[in-house]
Amino acid sequence: MPAEIVTMTECADFYGVFEVEGSKGAKYRVAFGGGEGPATCTCPAYQYAKGAVYDKTCKHIDRVFKEGCFWHPQWHDPGPRTIAPVETYSPNEVPGEKCPGCGGPVVAIRVAV
Ligand SMILES: [Zn+2]
Ligand SMILES: [Zn+2]
Repeated sequence: MPAEIVTMTECADFYGVFEVEGSKGAKYRVAFGGGEGPATCTCPAYQYAKGAVYDKTCKHIDRVFKEGCFWHPQWHDPGPRTIAPVETYSPNEVPGEKCPGCGGPVVAIRVAV
């Protein structure tokens, strides 16, 4: 039986760019590319990591994902959002709707149920 595709919303943190301070005071930018895109970081550990882009990660990406909101209706409860994006670049933001986790913008997504 084919899955049904419905439109839901998720936290715009999945499309956010975050600034994280590294251990030596350097600032790195962590960018999330939407629910299916890879997350990237400007730190050397990420840049020199071997492997496919979807497998690469670093401690800044881990930290942003743990401390941000990243509410998703199916698989992720909202986090504490002690870190918030400095930019979001989603083309599918839903006007007038707010994320139940952080009160920030939400993005329309199509998911199989
Ligand atoms: Zn990093
Ligand atoms: Zn949120």
